[in-house]
Amino acid sequence: MIPAESFSGKRVSLFGLGGSGIATARALIEGGADVLAWDDNPDSVAKAAGQGIATADLRGADWAKFSAFVLSPGVPLTHPKPHWTVELARGAGVEVIGDIELFCRERIARAPTAPFIAITGTNGKSTTTALTAHILKSAGRDTQMGGNIGRAIMTLDPPQPDRHYVVECSSYQIDLAPSINPTAGILLNLTPDHLDRHGTMQHYASIKERLVAGSETAIVGVDDSWCAQIADRLERAGRQVIRISKRLPLTDGYFADGTDLMEAVHGRYSRVAFLEGIGSLRGQHNAQNALAAVAACLKVGLSLGEIQAGLESFPGLAHRMEQVGRKDHVLFVNDSKATNADAAAPALSSFSRIYWIAGGLPKEGGIEPLRGFFPRIAKAYLIGEAAPAFSATLGEAVPYEISGTLAAAVDHAAQDAAKDDSGEAVVLLSPACASFDQFKNFEVRGEAFRQAANAIDGVKPIGGAR
Ligand code: ADP
Repeated sequence: MIPAESFSGKRVSLFGLGGSGIATARALIEGGADVLAWDDNPDSVAKAAGQGIATADLRGADWAKFSAFVLSPGVPLTHPKPHWTVELARGAGVEVIGDIELFCRERIARAPTAPFIAITGTNGKSTTTALTAHILKSAGRDTQMGGNIGRAIMTLDPPQPDRHYVVECSSYQIDLAPSINPTAGILLNLTPDHLDRHGTMQHYASIKERLVAGSETAIVGVDDSWCAQIADRLERAGRQVIRISKRLPLTDGYFADGTDLMEAVHGRYSRVAFLEGIGSLRGQHNAQNALAAVAACLKVGLSLGEIQAGLESFPGLAHRMEQVGRKDHVLFVNDSKATNADAAAPALSSFSRIYWIAGGLPKEGGIEPLRGFFPRIAKAYLIGEAAPAFSATLGEAVPYEISGTLAAAVDHAAQDAAKDDSGEAVVLLSPACASFDQFKNFEVRGEAFRQAANAIDGVKPIGGAR
């Protein structure tokens, strides 16, 4: 745990007592703060109270006495409208911050040179965070990973000069971290997402920009126009910017040429790493993630040899294009995290002969945006409530069956793929749907896929992400 000593002897209010809220309250208390916490959910309040955290309805609190208000990132700060606690804090002139801000203050106070890599973007945050942490760890660096992935940030070990922090940041967390100042800040990409919580794309982009604007070195994916503009703006303001592109040869920066990761210096190119043969990093989207990780690892002093070794041993993340088993030429890939068409696109673009298991609880727009990938789909196996709508979109373009259940879909797809004699065939669960009609969540769905695939006679499990 990182005791939040920057608030020692001060009174702090806190709202949101989920797992990270409780961890943050405990870090504040450990650091000597006088914490008063609350949540709309009585069970969460009871749980916090059971752990010795003082709780009270903050509506009745004397806000003038608080030095800061710590808000859980799950609670609206601005949109659709500020939470009532935010109104009370602002009315009393109390700063509103989150756990990442507490971490930043502790790092600056205790070990300002401790390497801090912060990662944001619309897609690929978790993969890039896990990959960066993995490369650092495999190179023997003392590495702590957390934030929006895995452990809540204040449960990590306290900052020391040689301790590396790799932190995934959602836009909500950045919004609550006014002094965020990473050694290397990564902004992968920006596409419309969560606009219900951010109002406009402009506002969403401006929050994400803050992470790189506060960085010693800003690593920015320039494949979309929002991020390209941010890179230009930061450079004009005199910041150190490293551009990355998954498809363009850049004049300066890092870009992907197929599976080769290239460095460009004033238009001269050299290969710094490669992804050829690395199953956990297939696809152009993963080239973007890997380029960002490579740039960050170079910034904190890793050698190219250490970086390549880390890339090659990366097990991947569960449920994101995760290879779970193989039988001869048939590969089984679990992409259960793809809960809408946009999220399914990277997997469909990464393989050329696909036996596609799709469906579940349908989302607006269906699979129409995936039409460009239809020629890669040998056959589709439709499950859940979305099956009729998906079959209508597939029409004559793609052979399909309505399998109904995931178990039947895996079974049938595996049999068909086994008969395919045109090279590697992939049985891919990338459902483009939520899971809730048939499963508790996407993790349970992915696990069911893994088990069904590995129950097939002769399938050899691929253990990677576990
Ligand atoms: P996040 O943490 O931002 O949600 P993840 O790393 O968990 O992202 O990946 C979630 C899904 O997003 C993946 O299954 C993949 O389909 C897609 N994805 C991953 N990286 C990228 C990227 N760089 N660009 C676009 N899509 C991506």
